Amino acid sequence: MTLQGKTAVITGSNSGIGLGVARELARAGADVVLNSFTDRDEDHALAAALGEEFGVTARYIQADMSKADACRALVEKSGACDILVNNAGIQHVAPIPEFSAEKWDAIIAINMSSAFHTTAAALPMMRKAGWGRVVNIASAHRLTASPFKSAYVAAKHGVVGLTKVTALETAREDITCNAICPGYVATPLIEAQIPDTMAKYNMSREDVVEKILLERQPSKQFASVEQVGGTTVFLCSETASQITGTSISVDGGWTAL
Ligand code: NAD
Repeated sequence: MTLQGKTAVITGSNSGIGLGVARELARAGADVVLNSFTDRDEDHALAAALGEEFGVTARYIQADMSKADACRALVEKSGACDILVNNAGIQHVAPIPEFSAEKWDAIIAINMSSAFHTTAAALPMMRKAGWGRVVNIASAHRLTASPFKSAYVAAKHGVVGLTKVTALETAREDITCNAICPGYVATPLIEAQIPDTMAKYNMSREDVVEKILLERQPSKQFASVEQVGGTTVFLCSETASQITGTSISVDGGWTAL
């Protein structure tokens, strides 16, 4: 299966899941646009290396996904946007009375509203091209909740609502919109929490992973960025052209509980 000739824009893709998704799309032949809010030499070097590895055109475009205009500008500057992956996301954990308004606004903006703004800019381009795929990276928290994650859980539930509306508005065209809902995925962000937690609870790495991080993930294994990326490639395939408006869990059984 090849995505040759398609351009994929992946928000928040200079690390973690976004980068993993970009790599799998490039492996499948798509040209890719990487993004984050920074504009460092290493961001551009990352894109150049990815392009070289897979023989595709890979660019890095700086854009802050907390800003509506920047979201739209990212898609416009990409020149083409056949595949849009809304992945940028942040987390903040606090009880509701202590959850600052600034953190609430930032999470809602980056994790949810950005997907609306990029989709609004991308749909006219997809319609012109006669083909398009929107993939929103939601979370197991689209269906379940955890205490202290009010903004994150609200945003992920919201993204799934937006996914359904986008699917309905494009249902008669060769455009689909779906959400991928990962459980815990092994990313540098998660990896970085392990040593501190080991020290805090005087536990082995194995115990921290199984009993704390993966407490709610029945498989007791992390999902990988390659698995989320592979699911994205599947959603862009011809086989998936009648899959729209739905959510696919990659969560080791978390939401089956
Ligand atoms: P990460 O921190 O490695 O990646 C987040 C990406 O978003 C980074 O590239 C970061 O630079 C970018 N980003 C942050 N703020 C931005 C902004 N204002 N503008 C543009 N880019 C910005 O984290 P991750 O674990 O790879 O998470 C990626 C997505 O996957 C998020 O939406 C997250 O909610 C979701 N997710 C992650 C997990 C997990 O276990 N890691 C599980 C479920 C869902």
